[in-house]
Formats: sequence, C-alpha cells, structure tokens
Amino acid sequence: MNQDIFILIEHLRGQVADISYVMLAAGRALAHAADGRVTAILLGHNSQALANELTADQVWYMDHPSLADFNPEIYQQALEPLLTQHAPRLMLFGDTSIGAEVAGPLSSRLGLPLVSYCRSISTQDGTLKFVSQVCGGKILFEGELPGPTALATMMPGVYKPEAGHSAQPPHITLLEAPAFTEPRLRLRRYIEPEIGDVDISKEAMLVAVGRGIQNEDNLQLAQELADALGGVVCSSRPVVDQGWLPASRLVGKSGKHVKPKLYLALGISGAPEHVEAIADAEMIVAVNSDPDAPIFNLAKYGSTLDLFELVPVLTEQLQQISSAVAH
Ligand SMILES: Cc1cc2nc3c(=O)[nH]c(=O)nc-3n(C[C@H](O)[C@H](O)[C@H](O)COP(=O)(O)OP(=O)(O)OC[C@H]3O[C@@H](n4cnc5c(N)ncnc54)[C@H](O)[C@@H]3O)c2cc1C
Repeated sequence: MNQDIFILIEHLRGQVADISYVMLAAGRALAHAADGRVTAILLGHNSQALANELTADQVWYMDHPSLADFNPEIYQQALEPLLTQHAPRLMLFGDTSIGAEVAGPLSSRLGLPLVSYCRSISTQDGTLKFVSQVCGGKILFEGELPGPTALATMMPGVYKPEAGHSAQPPHITLLEAPAFTEPRLRLRRYIEPEIGDVDISKEAMLVAVGRGIQNEDNLQLAQELADALGGVVCSSRPVVDQGWLPASRLVGKSGKHVKPKLYLALGISGAPEHVEAIADAEMIVAVNSDPDAPIFNLAKYGSTLDLFELVPVLTEQLQQISSAVAH
C-alpha cells in the first residue's frame, strides 16, 4: 500500500500558519517510520517563497489567481484530482477553520474516511494508529487509521512546529491548476480583529480565566493576580460571550493564539478550540477543581484546589515577595 503522506500547507496573507509546521513535523516522524514520502501541497498565487522553510521530501506548488486567497470550494477543486490520482496513505489538514472547511467536504465527495481532532499518528505493527481528542478534549480515542487513503485534521500540542522547519529549501514542483469552476463563495474582505487595549499575543505573562470564574465581579481576583505577576488577564470564550471581557482578550480558535512564558489557566476545562491557541506557551499552569479536566494533559503544573481559595493566597504571596525585593 502507498505510504505517502500529503500535507495541506495553511497560509494566510503571506504567512505560513504554525499548524503547517506541526503537520510537517508529524509527517516527517511518520514517513520515517512507515517508509513513505512527505509531500507538502502549497496552493496560492505568487506564493512560492512560502515553501522555502518547509520540511518535506517535496513540495507541490499550484499557482493560480483563484488561489490568491483561501476559498474552500477552490481548494477542494485543486485537491480532489491530486487525491484521486495519487491515493496517498494519509492527507493531513490543520484542525482549524481552513482545514475543517476543506477536509470535511473532500471526505464526503470522495468517500474517504476522515479522523478529526488528531493529536498524534504513529505506526504500530505495520498499521497506522491515531489518537484523537474527542468530546471537548475529555476523551482520548485511539484507533486504526482506515485505508487505503484516509484524511485527518491535526491539532497542535504533541509535535513541535520547529521540527517542521528546514534551513534548506525543499524541492519544488509546479503543478498545473485544473480549470476551476466559479465558486459560490467569494471573499469580500478580511475583518481584522480589534487590537484592543493590549495585544495578548505579545504578552509574556497571561492569567486566563474560564467559566469557573463564575461572574464578572470575580474577575477582580484574576486582575490582582495578573498585577502581582506583571501580566494581563485574558479568557476562554464563555467569559467573552458573557461580555465580561472584550473580544481582544479571547484566547482560542475564534480569538488569539498566544505564546507567553507563563499561561496560568484558572477554571478553564481545556477544550480543543481553546488549547489549540496555547500550545506554544512556554509553561502552562492550570487550576481546576476537576482532576479529569483535559487542561491537565497540557499543563506542566496543576492544582485541583478551588480557584477561589488558591488565587487570593497566591496573589498575597507574590505581593509579599515583590515588596521584600523592593526593600
Ligand atoms: C467553532 C467554535 C469555536 C470556538 N472558539 C473558542 C475560542 O476561541 N476560545 C475558547 O476558549 N473556546 C472556544 N470555543 C468553545 C469551546 O468549545 C469551549 O466551550 C470553551 O473553551 C469552554 O470554556 P471554559 O473552559 O471556560 O468552560 P468550561 O468548559 O465550562 O470549563 C470550566 C472549568 O472550570 C472548572 N471550575 C469550575 N469552578 C471552579 C473552581 N471554583 N475552581 C477551579 N476550577 C473550577 C471546571 O471544573 C471546568 O473544567 C469554540 C467552540 C466552537 C464550536
């Protein structure tokens, strides 16, 4: 059976998304074990330079004005013939809005199995096994990847994006674009996320609050802790949906990706849509009274104490340390 791995390179407005490097890192580990080749597929217009840092055995680059901006229908039309002609063992997509909008329809059009929320894929006794994070991250599901060709959407967390970067530009083959039919969807404009008072994607210390904070007044506790740490408060989606914090403080799929030195998660369960945006934090510390909360799969340190007991004590300790240092 063909053991080749295809990877759809995600990019937006001239930037390769980190998830592409995560997939390349996964593909490299897998191809090495399964004796296959990794083919990175880059769709774009005047975007060949984006291939320069991709770790892959080869890059197939398709250049066409219709590919200048992401369009799920055009992407499907570009990828469909590649999948049917070459029948790779596996094609990886990011577990992102882009990946989901392409992988799902391709799976249904081509009748190919699709595994979503993949954390890792490995070879065992000649078969490909996946671990997928389902039910909002509460269950890790292990299974055999159906053949001969399967599609999967990949989450960040297990593979380091650095392992998907290469200092050597890969071998690039220019692919001829098919005759695209007019898509029903068209990009009207990009809506930039509001900058807000602070840019949480650039902050080194983040105190993140989730639904466990219970109400708006309790945000003060998190703010005091953030002040003591010299950081800022951000949150999961329920807090923003309630209007307790502005959207500029939202971490996750529909918010910002963050890369702080410390990400202190208070009362956050660790749903996939949240954790995909914190995988690059240097250290994650979680406070959650549920010992089975999925956030603990990612956290380096954790506490199952009630956050309302722990946070005031922690803040006080930090304040004492900083006043001792100041004197
Ligand atoms: C398309 C889509 C996009 C999404 N985008 C995002 C996104 O960008 N960002 C995002 O965050 N979510 C996003 N979500 C929502 C996501 O699926 C989760 O619903 C959300 O992340 C859950 O937030 P939470 O962890 O704060 O709440 P919950 O899942 O309700 O978790 C609250 C946690 O607090 C703990 N807790 C309660 N009380 C205490 C206490 N006193 N002390 C300690 N711990 C306590 C509980 O044990 C629980 O684990 C998206 C969902 C979809 C479908």
